[in-house]
Amino acid sequence: DANKETLGFQAEVKQLLQLMIHSLYSNKEIFLRELISNSSDAADKLRFLSLSDADIMEGDGDLKIRLEFDKENNTVTLSDNGIGMNRDDVISHLGTLAKSGTSDFLKNLTGDQKKDSQLIGQFGVGFYSAFVVADEVEVFTRKAGEPAENGVHWVSRGEGEFSVEAIEKPERGTRIVLHLREAESEFADGWRLRNIVSKYSDHISLPIEMEKPDMGSEAEEEGENKAAEDKTPEFEVVNKATALWTRSRGEISEDEYKEFYKHISHDFEEPLSWSHNRVEGKQEYTSLLYLPKKAPFDLYQREANRGLKLYVQRVFIMDDADQFMPLYLRFMKGVLDSADLPLNVSREILQSNRNVENIKTALTKRALDMIGKLEPEDYLEFWKQFGQVLKEGPAEDHANKEKICGLFRFASTHSGSSAQTVSLDDYIGRMKEGQEKIYYIAAENYNAAANSPHLEIFRKKGVEVLVMYDRIDEWMMGHLFDFKGKSFANIAKGDLDLGAIETEEDKKQQEEVEKTSEDLVKRLQEALDSKVSEVKVSHRLTDSPACLVVGAYDMGAQMRQIMEAAGQ
Ligand code: ADP
Ligand code: MG
Repeated sequence: DANKETLGFQAEVKQLLQLMIHSLYSNKEIFLRELISNSSDAADKLRFLSLSDADIMEGDGDLKIRLEFDKENNTVTLSDNGIGMNRDDVISHLGTLAKSGTSDFLKNLTGDQKKDSQLIGQFGVGFYSAFVVADEVEVFTRKAGEPAENGVHWVSRGEGEFSVEAIEKPERGTRIVLHLREAESEFADGWRLRNIVSKYSDHISLPIEMEKPDMGSEAEEEGENKAAEDKTPEFEVVNKATALWTRSRGEISEDEYKEFYKHISHDFEEPLSWSHNRVEGKQEYTSLLYLPKKAPFDLYQREANRGLKLYVQRVFIMDDADQFMPLYLRFMKGVLDSADLPLNVSREILQSNRNVENIKTALTKRALDMIGKLEPEDYLEFWKQFGQVLKEGPAEDHANKEKICGLFRFASTHSGSSAQTVSLDDYIGRMKEGQEKIYYIAAENYNAAANSPHLEIFRKKGVEVLVMYDRIDEWMMGHLFDFKGKSFANIAKGDLDLGAIETEEDKKQQEEVEKTSEDLVKRLQEALDSKVSEVKVSHRLTDSPACLVVGAYDMGAQMRQIMEAAGQ
């Protein structure tokens, strides 16, 4: 056949396929969730296009999914009348992995199936999960707005290559036929399929139809000849088919919230928490925000997709609307459904719309509150995953500085471990009588900071010092001056003012040392001359004979290393 082409999968797809088949054995049924999720996305995309081009519906605006099975032939078939794909779409969407972070993800794989299956989960399994239960997958599809002869037939056994061929397909959308592996015939069963749909896909607003079940043996006996007539099968909707966020909180189960999260985030893990709110009055919108459990692979990639799924009056508008969350909360997922934005809203309009700014302010507050309300154990997990991103907050969001700082956790000399568990409130609660400042030290790693001679005097006095060693800390502290009226002091910078912590006796002792050392200081100054700016007698030390101090307005040691590494 002249128009049939056989192509190889991208190397990454081959790797993913291999891995998936071996790691998802205990959770095979999720293939259906993935395929339904794709059909639902395809319907959303079509509805969105029809806002500006009504003809694209081709007179069939009744969007739905049909799920069928054939016990004899051991197949499951899923059909939708969504946006569909043309030949180019099929080749790029069902032959490559376009996701950002793909190579990072593959690099992280260990070869240990248990660990790797977790990673796959985080990465998202998608369409290719069909091969977990099928040894051959066929896709018949035709893109909305294109002629019937632009239909495409895609076939693959999931082993390294696939073929594409032009076909005639009058009905718009995508039909996927799974030829089940012999051992997976349990899925060619109406009850099994219904059960999976209600478990994973009740929240999908698109109706999912299945043939009404047979009345059983009675009907069979009664009419041998009746069965021979081909009666048109009757279908019924088997999911709830209302957008989850439009329902009231009280009637949504935890499981439904969790499944909905997996659908919108393409995450495999459950969310850490969520917050569902309807706002009425001057502005009207519904938001459903989720806090993920695990950081995505592309958290630090500039071009990574982030933001909320945006709907206007329940009509899907766009994925990844990033104008509603600040950058330092870019890990938040969720849905925003606005009643005030225009249906033809674009990214450009979002950028200059006043409603958007107000919603962003409200959602930022909501997200910070949500984080603040986490149970202590969950909080530590959250902090490990996203703490470093949150530390970008004080520089980006002045209005919420105090709130953000309240969420920070640090290592400290109090616990004496590198675990970041101490909040600023904890610290303040333990401040010594007369202590006015929040003391901290920053270094490139925990050991360097914890062993610093600068800490000696604080140890001696029993004054707690926060130990900072994340790359971002010194930069962040440049944007922080105080918390709840207490200013921050870097103990490695400038003259150390211990305030009232220092006793009269300490001061007297210090003066004496200075006097007796005058001669020594002078000789050191001459010897070191150009290498240091000043030699001083210090009361910082108790055990170490000498230490290097950075001037109050000089760059910190950690910052200097970053600059040096950057070649400055
Ligand atoms: P994701 O859904 O995360 O993008 P998938 O592997 O599930 O990844 O799907 C890959 C792509 O294939 C989708 O982004 C979409 O472009 C296309 N696709 C899959 N199923 C359908 C469908 N039923 N209708 C239209 N396009 C689809
Ligand atoms: Mg998908």
